[in-house]
Amino acid sequence: MVRQGVHTSLRPAGSCHCGAVEVDLDLTCAPDEMTVRACQCDFCSHRGSRTASDKGGLATIRTDRPESLIRYRFGFRTADYLVCAACGTYVAAVQQDDPPIAVVNVGGLGVPEFEGRESVAVDHAGETLDARAARRRSYWMPVAFAYSAESRATSAVEAVRG
Ligand SMILES: [Zn+2]
Repeated sequence: MVRQGVHTSLRPAGSCHCGAVEVDLDLTCAPDEMTVRACQCDFCSHRGSRTASDKGGLATIRTDRPESLIRYRFGFRTADYLVCAACGTYVAAVQQDDPPIAVVNVGGLGVPEFEGRESVAVDHAGETLDARAARRRSYWMPVAFAYSAESRATSAVEAVRG
């Protein structure tokens, strides 16, 4: 696969169980070059979360309106765990940096390019808050939100999509 920056021809996408939330991934590397992680925290292990991220790419989370996403926080409350308000699918975790960064639950969203991939078990228990934020910045990816109920935002996103 030829590397050509963020806007490669390959644009993996997935959605939550009910389809209310969709995620597009603009990647700078092939999905099979990306690490798939299985976080061992209670929240992730109970859901079988399998996450991936491309620091140089962009995740676009699309839904009708912001209320379609529940922002759940727990533990040190350093990230928002985005959950579909209708079907309960865990979509992504977002650290509110400027700009915000995220890991995407490619397993829960059924992104085909990641199906069947071996995941690496990771356990971040015991991290300091500073270490946690820094670790996320080392591999989490930029994230954008597009709400189709806001027609102007939608057309802007569609223009970018080409
Ligand atoms: Zn849903």
